[in-house]
Amino acid sequence: MTTLVLKFGGTSVGNADAISRAADLVLGRVRAGNGVAVVVSAMSGVTDALTRGIQAAAIGDEQLHRRVAADVLDRHRVAADVLGVENASELNEAAEETMDEYLAVCDSVRVLGEATPRALDRATSRGEPLLARLLAAVLAANGVDAVAIDPTEVIVTDSTYQNATPQLEETRERAARTLRPLIVTGVVPILAGFMGGTRDGVTTTLGRGGSDFSAAILGYALRADEVLICTDVDGVMTADPRLVPTARAIPVLSYGEVGELAYFGAKVLHPRTIRPLVDERIPLRILNTFRPECPGTRIQPEADLSVGAVKAVTDICGLSLVTVEGRGMLGVPGIAARTFGSVARCCANVLMISQASSEQSICFVVPGEAAARVKAELDEEFALELARRAIDQVRVVLDVAVVTALGAGMRGAVGAVGKVLDAVGRRGVDVMALAQGSSEWSVSMAVTASDREAAVRAIHDEVIAR
Ligand code: ASP
Ligand code: MG
Repeated sequence: MTTLVLKFGGTSVGNADAISRAADLVLGRVRAGNGVAVVVSAMSGVTDALTRGIQAAAIGDEQLHRRVAADVLDRHRVAADVLGVENASELNEAAEETMDEYLAVCDSVRVLGEATPRALDRATSRGEPLLARLLAAVLAANGVDAVAIDPTEVIVTDSTYQNATPQLEETRERAARTLRPLIVTGVVPILAGFMGGTRDGVTTTLGRGGSDFSAAILGYALRADEVLICTDVDGVMTADPRLVPTARAIPVLSYGEVGELAYFGAKVLHPRTIRPLVDERIPLRILNTFRPECPGTRIQPEADLSVGAVKAVTDICGLSLVTVEGRGMLGVPGIAARTFGSVARCCANVLMISQASSEQSICFVVPGEAAARVKAELDEEFALELARRAIDQVRVVLDVAVVTALGAGMRGAVGAVGKVLDAVGRRGVDVMALAQGSSEWSVSMAVTASDREAAVRAIHDEVIAR
């Protein structure tokens, strides 16, 4: 029996229409004879609202969390009503109980004046279980047996609240015991995504956007044949469609290629999603719930090298370029270590690094908000070298973007980087810094924010779409 894990994101369960489309996708797979398990997110916007509610409670607000709970229940009731599920009143009661838990957590947080990570996890994960029960009811109404399963009993995690790490082997044992018997008899288990539980059953979450990760964990646990992430886009796109209207879904990407993408904020997948799938070589497909006829993007172990070398161009803005420069750095060990040690002390994430063999400068890109504190820390770290003029200055360029061209076919492809730079250059874009990892899967360039669009379009039009 082929086993599939289907995951539906917030917009794919955001209202009655979306939920019935999601149900159709599940029904189609079940009727084709597959074993199916489902993971659902909360309705779009619900996790944000639950988070705002508990954060307000922590600083003494008495009202917001109540309004949030009432709104969530309202959206749930309307959806259940429009969908015409048989057991609507039972579902609404269960939803009320779940929201009562939310209110209880928020009220105690208000009394304590502090929202601990553990309390946050308990409160912000209250949206998903509502959808698991609602979707189960919709499937049942269509003649498919489905049961909502409490994920705290299946997805075992450590107790790093807010960003828990799954205990994969224990999860696999539990899945074999609780989920597999259902699946083999044609029953569809539906799990609330985003959350898991410690060995003692305390609720944890896998980080924002974590229901993708839930699906991958379940895929691993069930040794699934495919994990389907059903969302509101056609797949991983060749470029940001807001910048490049002709961007299209990439049919096939390897785990490695998507890793480069996730790092650069492609926002399609939770960055930890691929990890559990790699060892078992389980493919993952991104599908559009609203356009299921589109093939989407398949993410698999091997790269498809039959297409062009460059498959996608990504961009991140709101960054700063920091340069430590001076003649006294040549041949002096430890400058790079001290530079990045300082950056680490500022808790600033480095998105790109470049140093030429002249060793006259080291430059790197950090989020714009971190630039001032990084510069201050570096000025202090190198105070002596600056005074002696061994280091001339720590220079910061604000309003920088990083544009990255990537594709596994770039490795060993003579001229691939040349084409990228040529395309950018012909549009008059000045490349301030350049980095290519030895994986040769991507090349990143720092440009001024005002050149970002031109750079992305140049690479898309002249290299990818060719
Ligand atoms: N609902 C959660 C969030 O918004 C998890 C998810 O959607 O993946 O972060
Ligand atoms: Mg998501």
